[in-house]
Amino acid sequence: MARYTGPVCRLCRRERTKLFLKGERCYSLKCPVSEAVTDRHSRAYPPGEHGRDRMRQGSEYLAQLREKQKARRIYGVLERQFQNIYAEASRQPGITGENLLRLLELRLDNVVFRAGWGASRAQARQLVRHGHVQVNGRRVTIPSFRARVGDVLAMKPGKELYLVRRNLDTLDRQLPLWLEAGDNRAQVRVTSLPQREHIDEPVRESLIVELYSK
Ligand code: SF4
Repeated sequence: MARYTGPVCRLCRRERTKLFLKGERCYSLKCPVSEAVTDRHSRAYPPGEHGRDRMRQGSEYLAQLREKQKARRIYGVLERQFQNIYAEASRQPGITGENLLRLLELRLDNVVFRAGWGASRAQARQLVRHGHVQVNGRRVTIPSFRARVGDVLAMKPGKELYLVRRNLDTLDRQLPLWLEAGDNRAQVRVTSLPQREHIDEPVRESLIVELYSK
């Protein structure tokens, strides 16, 4: 499945917020949209020659579009796939926006990221693609694979475990409430479906629903 391979800091600058796409760098002063960077060095404006000119207020449609793009970029999903997930979310009972975020959260690459094994979702995706992740004892290499309640994810023993251990130690990310750790955090179990209050991404999903409902 295709994925975006261009420079990712541009995406954060476009959305004018940190999307945490680069792992360790996102937590450092090297981040161009970090609030801790002084005004002179901050590049918290949209990329491109006319980036600073685009700081003006936009239309309602623009706000909806930006929210959708932000969600897509956070989870590393291309447009067609995102539309398919939205279509599935809208068929499910309940609130469509929350269903959408829940389906995105349950992607295998996201669960690996939430487990703290990958420094970013891109790295988590690579761990999956390269066959280092097992679901219920079987190797799964599809980043969009959907985890279910009761699934047990584990890192395959190997040298990648050092990378995972380093990420766990240095980034010190907390597990969300819907995951339970085991085996010194080299294993996680999905204990429940993620609820909206457990998803800390800065996405206003109602705007995405408004956009797709037109
Ligand atoms: Fe780049 Fe990470 Fe900062 Fe985004 S949050 S601009 S990906 S360093």
